[in-house]
Amino acid sequence: MSIVVQKYGGSSVADVERIRTVARRVVATKEKGYDVVVVVSAMGKTTDQLLARAKEITASPSRRELDMLLSCGERASMALLSMAIHDLGHKAISLTGSQSGILTNDRHSGARIIEVRPFRVQDELEAGNIVIVAGFQGVSYKREVTTLGRGGSDTTAVALAGALGAEYCEICSDVDGVYSADPRIIDAAALIKAISHEEMLELASHGAKVLHAESVEFARRQGVALWARATQGEGEGTRIDRPDQITRDHAVTGVSVQRNLVRLRANGPDSMDRMLAAAAEASLPVLRLDADHEIADLWFGLDDVPDWPVLRSKLIGQVEVDEQCAGVSIVGDFIGRNATKLARVRSVAAGMGVPIKAMSSSPLRITLFCDESHAEDLARAFHRAFRE
Ligand code: ADP
Ligand code: ASP
Ligand code: MG
Repeated sequence: MSIVVQKYGGSSVADVERIRTVARRVVATKEKGYDVVVVVSAMGKTTDQLLARAKEITASPSRRELDMLLSCGERASMALLSMAIHDLGHKAISLTGSQSGILTNDRHSGARIIEVRPFRVQDELEAGNIVIVAGFQGVSYKREVTTLGRGGSDTTAVALAGALGAEYCEICSDVDGVYSADPRIIDAAALIKAISHEEMLELASHGAKVLHAESVEFARRQGVALWARATQGEGEGTRIDRPDQITRDHAVTGVSVQRNLVRLRANGPDSMDRMLAAAAEASLPVLRLDADHEIADLWFGLDDVPDWPVLRSKLIGQVEVDEQCAGVSIVGDFIGRNATKLARVRSVAAGMGVPIKAMSSSPLRITLFCDESHAEDLARAFHRAFRE
């Protein structure tokens, strides 16, 4: 039988009624004749609440203990969804990341999946069960519980789909697909029918949290047919596919905003060495490094660095620390190689009087770094200038 993997995000399982709605959608897929594996996130804002509780105890919680705590959020959802499916008269079983064979490295609060050994999932499917897997978590080779970084349930789903040879994988959320910008901040954002892995990866790794960047990487590497869809409604959603399968109607695909960035600036070779050593020791998720013989700037996001206050106090005095920064990115067909577009991006920002901290490009992307307070206005202006 063909396997389908469906992932439901936090807002889709936020309360008992929504869990029942998800259960009905899952059962409808099973009744079409598929074997169904479901990956769930923690209910609603549970992860934020657990994190806030840890921060009430200490400003810099241990990453290991935080993983023990946060992984509970997804465990609650998986068990409740399994019960809701039983209530509809179907067989279901819930499994943790570890029971599902999600093996990771040992970087707590942002581990990477190294291998998926889904034997238990396969056995349960063969026994006729719908299998519910707790997203966002795995087990390291040291047998420690790890979590995959904020938004990581998407990656659990796609990695499992790859390992199981699933026919397709659906990421279901409160938005009906990938838009040309976050529809919550830009009203004119348009739904994209199909997007290449490469462009989706640029958007996701620069702030478009509709998909976790690593999930896109898994889909590309393992050839998983991937869709971003709404939990409720009949829309087709967005297909993430190979570039030769995409027909594009705009030169610019989308605009994204990445908040909560920090820039560390080292002045002189000794300071540079110390900065890089500290970054390595803390496994900082480096977004970008620029250096000449005098100055080095290292940019990273704070989302998966829960112990930042301790690290910050070690760094202060050794390097300049610039917090509350953001990156605004424009992604499109070879946009970063187009000097006219690069010049236009700069002039739009200059016209708004936004001080630019840095600018960078890759073939498919242009990013401007600025103060967080300017990011949304800049994104709106870029969307208007390049996409509408
Ligand atoms: P889930 O909890 O289901 O994983 P997320 O909150 O992680 O959902 O992701 C969905 C949210 O991503 C949407 O509500 C939307 O505000 C935001 N988002 C950001 N950029 C985009 C984009 N380009 N297209 C669609 N949604 C986006
Ligand atoms: N619950 C986790 C988070 O809020 C993982 C996820 O939702 O994908 O980041
Ligand atoms: Mg998400």
